[in-house]
Amino acid sequence: MSSIPQAPLFQPERVIDAVADFLADPVVAADFPDAILRFRNDKAAAQIGLDTLDDAQWIAHFGRFTPLPGSLPQPLALRYHGHQFRVYNPDIGDGRGFLFAQMRDKKGRVMDLGTKGSGQTPYSRFGDGRLTLKGAVREILATEMLEALGVETSRTFSVIETGEALHRGDEPSPTRSAVLVRLSHGHIRIGSFQRLAALGQTEALKRLVAYALSIYYGETDGPDAAVRLVRHVVARTADMAASFMAAGFVHGVLNSDNINISGESFDYGPWRWTPTFDPGFTAAYFDQQGLYAFGRQAEAIHWDVVQLANSLLDLAERDALVEAIDGFAPAYRAALVARVLWRLGVQPRGTEADIALVTALETALYASKVNIDRFYFDWAGGQLRRADADGLYQQAEFSDLTQALAGYHPRLPLTHGYWAGSAPCSMHIDEVEAIWAPIADRDDWSALTAKVAAIRAMGAALAG
Ligand code: AMP
Ligand code: MG
Repeated sequence: MSSIPQAPLFQPERVIDAVADFLADPVVAADFPDAILRFRNDKAAAQIGLDTLDDAQWIAHFGRFTPLPGSLPQPLALRYHGHQFRVYNPDIGDGRGFLFAQMRDKKGRVMDLGTKGSGQTPYSRFGDGRLTLKGAVREILATEMLEALGVETSRTFSVIETGEALHRGDEPSPTRSAVLVRLSHGHIRIGSFQRLAALGQTEALKRLVAYALSIYYGETDGPDAAVRLVRHVVARTADMAASFMAAGFVHGVLNSDNINISGESFDYGPWRWTPTFDPGFTAAYFDQQGLYAFGRQAEAIHWDVVQLANSLLDLAERDALVEAIDGFAPAYRAALVARVLWRLGVQPRGTEADIALVTALETALYASKVNIDRFYFDWAGGQLRRADADGLYQQAEFSDLTQALAGYHPRLPLTHGYWAGSAPCSMHIDEVEAIWAPIADRDDWSALTAKVAAIRAMGAALAG
């Protein structure tokens, strides 16, 4: 009896070969003393057909970096420059990571598995090429939470503890080490284009534009390719900025080398969630000017996209690039409305009323200093769902909001068990530290496991 042929679940790719000659350098992973599996994301792995690997195979690929059959034969450290806190830095690149593999996901998109903490490369400068275990745990928490809140983000695919002792200025040292693998829709950054422009490699720049348009936006090359690419990046990154605001998320390091041209958020270091709607809330201790504060993220991302346009001036008319960039503000405003209404759990009406609602909501959050996560939980579906015993919502700003909400309907049935709980799932810094402490003290991972489950439950509840 002949069986029905089935498409292979794991679909390896190596499309990066088309641009690797000017974009990357072959490298080797560090030989770590240990490889202890700490986190495997089977939900993400199922989307690329790798959930069937057993733990030994998983460790061989994502701790020892045995190539995945049919994908890259050797890891590639990507070359890029970038503006860091608005200062141009030509001395960066993948200093502690590399592109390990490419493949198609179930939607047919080309995906990358990239690393963090996999060893030194030609771009490590004075760095050790390593990642702390705490940094890895923080990246799990950030990516899970963002995904649950509907943000387009890289996923934390794997974390393997590597048995080294690291020294860091911002963690009690020595501290434990890990290698992290992330699944993302590409690793082409604004800084990848900036580098080619700075080096005057116009032909390579043209090829990278064509590559990005075809892989991430499904379009073919042509005379207006550079302008079309900027338009796409404007639309996607404006939505990314809006999704941070609805999530209450502060990325912390919105440098142009940390902006993926697919519009997916990634590279999580000193991130934080802001407890209240405080535009000045800053995540990174080294961001003394508040350049990347909560309320300045759209401006920061817009500034980065302007650098992309600047790097393409040899390939397009200046006016056309400016016009494309001018699309950022309206795209951001529209995305903010959509994102806030989504998190609130109401159906958009598609009118001026939506804009008025979002204005009333942000005004109320700002003036009342109520906890953002608490607010969205209590008001899910667009109406106060619990007795306001502490008088949280007695302030005048909430009566304006209540008025603005008249005529809105829930987009969700609110039947998921998450909504019956007494408290929202949130990710404030004290919660992050409380998850890390038992791991550091006694290798107890139960709080992390429980948190990931709680976050995923919230994600399912919000998805409806
Ligand atoms: P990031 O702040 O993670 O975006 O990193 C900025 C630059 O510093 C990138 O080129 C990184 O590869 C590099 N880098 C950060 N930490 C290390 C490290 N421990 N070793 C080597 N390079 C690093
Ligand atoms: Mg980075």
